[in-house]
Amino acid sequence: MTLLSEKYRLSRSGVDFIDEAQLHGLLESPADAGKVREIIAKSMAKRPLAVEETAALLAATAPEQIEEIFAAARQLKRDVYGNRIVLFAPLYIGNECTNDCHYCAFRRSNREQIRRTLDEEDIRRQVLALEGKGHKRLILVFGEHPDYDARFMAECVRHVYSIHSGRGEIRRVNLNAAPLDHEGYATVKAANIGTYQIFQETYHHETYRKVHPPNTRKGDYLWRLDGVARAMEAECDDVGIGALFGLYDWRFEVLSLVTHALHLQKHYGVGPHTISFPRLRPAQGVHLDETYLVSDDDFKRLVAILRLSAPYTGLICTAREPPQLRREVMAFGVSQIDAGSRVELGGYTEAGDAQVVEREQFELGDIRSLDETMRELLVDGYIPSFCTSCYRLGRTGEQFMEFAIPGFIQNLCTPNALTTLMEYLIDYASPETRAAGERAIEIEIGKLPDGARKQQLLDRLNRIRNGERDLYV
Ligand code: SAM
Ligand code: SF4
Repeated sequence: MTLLSEKYRLSRSGVDFIDEAQLHGLLESPADAGKVREIIAKSMAKRPLAVEETAALLAATAPEQIEEIFAAARQLKRDVYGNRIVLFAPLYIGNECTNDCHYCAFRRSNREQIRRTLDEEDIRRQVLALEGKGHKRLILVFGEHPDYDARFMAECVRHVYSIHSGRGEIRRVNLNAAPLDHEGYATVKAANIGTYQIFQETYHHETYRKVHPPNTRKGDYLWRLDGVARAMEAECDDVGIGALFGLYDWRFEVLSLVTHALHLQKHYGVGPHTISFPRLRPAQGVHLDETYLVSDDDFKRLVAILRLSAPYTGLICTAREPPQLRREVMAFGVSQIDAGSRVELGGYTEAGDAQVVEREQFELGDIRSLDETMRELLVDGYIPSFCTSCYRLGRTGEQFMEFAIPGFIQNLCTPNALTTLMEYLIDYASPETRAAGERAIEIEIGKLPDGARKQQLLDRLNRIRNGERDLYV
């Protein structure tokens, strides 16, 4: 046991549940087309897959089997999420960091990086810029540093919620930050955070040790692995997990993510709200070892297999990926994307159109504006959503799953997606995007059976046209 784990209290499920020998053994399983079909049938019935079943999908490499997996993922995505895509933006608060993660430009040994922590006024300017574009959901991102303790994060969250301009407001603030102790999670929860995201980066112990020096806080594998379980115990039951793809064998990371999700489900009765699968990007002074970089084709497989393995877990594809690939994987089960993102400190008002390498964590692959991204989604038949209603009505964790599993989600989410889309179209969209959005809303309404639910939605859309805002079910 390491020093940190002795000093701090782990969760009651706080053991290292990543059994590498078992996972590597599973990755040796031979491809079996019959088994793949059976497993696909199970996920189409919306039942989460066991790790062994996920491994069988990973073993399928014949083009026709891969096609079957893609087709099933597309279908499952439609069945569970409809055509909604939730949109958010990251807001980097500070890039001070005491860790030395080899892949990250914020690592402490990177002397070229310009260090900065946004003050209240800086945050206000960034949030006003984001609100001015139409954003309603943010994720605040922090380096790991004593200055960025739970109290500081909670203050930032409260500050962001308090910033309003005209019709602009942020209705949900998520966090991506270092793991906390139970007390820390309770502190940020009290500020009304949405999801607390922690990526394990790599679940492979030796690789973890290699890229996270042991004399750093992040060097403690178990403290991090246990991070979201502690969050759940402190009533932050809405958590996100993820792996940084490109550090180790992507198939091992997929099995580990599924293991992690099942571990949370077993011990807390609810899995993670989201899984993220960022791929390594070029970053200031970072030498990318190419051994495990994930190709676009494998990336598509990993998204589709995660979709099938965890039918009710949101999948997040970030702007690290280039536009065309994001467009493709959207169909395989992605449910959330960021748009109009900047990862430089102060990037929403200060950076202009170019990325500024000295002030950012890594290079983005997609720097299109929110409006352009919205338009493409609409033209492709998606309904971009800024909905925050589940979180605001307390439909999270176990309770959220009750709604999600019997399929109520479409009855709640689609109407809420359409009303938040309507707000966006009226308040922020360019004329072209507005036209595409109005058409999309009409099509969606046309799909609804006549009845009270449809009438309610039509009424709400009219009220929004007449100036009301924030109407949700
Ligand atoms: N400092 C906290 C931590 O490490 O958990 C907060 C988040 S960090 C600023 C956000 C995430 O960015 C990391 O968890 C990592 O997965 C990802 N990241 C770091 N360097 C990256 C790179 N070069 N390319 C892509 N993603 C990267
Ligand atoms: Fe710091 Fe997070 Fe970057 Fe690691 S990934 S150097 S902890 S900001």
